[in-house]
Amino acid sequence: MSSHAAQAILLGIQETGEHDLLVTYFTRPGGKLRVLAKNARLSKKRFGGALDLFISGEIVFTYGRRGAIPILKEALAREHHAGIRGDISRTAHAAYWTELVSLYMEEGEPQEECHDLLASSLLDLHLGTPPEQPHLLFQARFACLAGFRPNLGSCLKCGAPPGGMAKGAIGFDIKGGGIVCPACAGPGQNARLGLGTVRQLAWVMERDLGHARRARFSKQAAWTAGGVFEAFLPYHLGIEPRSLRFLRETRRLGLLDSMPGLSARFAQSRLNQQGDNP
Ligand SMILES: [Zn+2]
Repeated sequence: MSSHAAQAILLGIQETGEHDLLVTYFTRPGGKLRVLAKNARLSKKRFGGALDLFISGEIVFTYGRRGAIPILKEALAREHHAGIRGDISRTAHAAYWTELVSLYMEEGEPQEECHDLLASSLLDLHLGTPPEQPHLLFQARFACLAGFRPNLGSCLKCGAPPGGMAKGAIGFDIKGGGIVCPACAGPGQNARLGLGTVRQLAWVMERDLGHARRARFSKQAAWTAGGVFEAFLPYHLGIEPRSLRFLRETRRLGLLDSMPGLSARFAQSRLNQQGDNP
């Protein structure tokens, strides 16, 4: 039985059998891969603490008989990303990105660019970059890699380029997948982006990853454009990541945490809602 080694990011863990774990990785050379970590639940030492969400490193695995799930032999953590798991907001962002990759990417199909995008986004999140920056970059570039590059070059309705549009906020048509100039934007387009944001977004989608990840959007622009992609991606990929709901919830709670009075009212209203919907 020959062994294979790969650079990999841990996307998900599931208990299986009495002692084992089913681990989903995003490998650099081979895309998504599910492996069986035998006896991983019996001994934490078995894989040296390398079986935790978002950890990236190297794995060694073997293929058994045809059709059987490959067996994980070794896992070596290169980057633990502890700065993500210790923070609920960062965890929620990472969970959403890894779920997008896990849901959309096919098993066994190489996706090197997407692997590198996820790896650098997780690293930036771990290193303390404000989450809205890698969040926007990851989503924008993931959309392109998945084949759903939004049209930022001209108005979907009249064809005007961003530089030739009437003054005002530019709309974004989620279904149409592109920008709509201020003159054509109707009341239905409630996501409004500034001209500078549209240009900067186009730039980070075009440039190589090394340059793009150094770009900094204003906080407000990153939040607004990040929100556009949170609607755009599920619509065009045809998937609704469960972790997106969790992300939105943590965001709302984070905001309310700084206002204790509101936080208590919010908790109460949540409890009341639960009472209404047993
Ligand atoms: Zn127009």
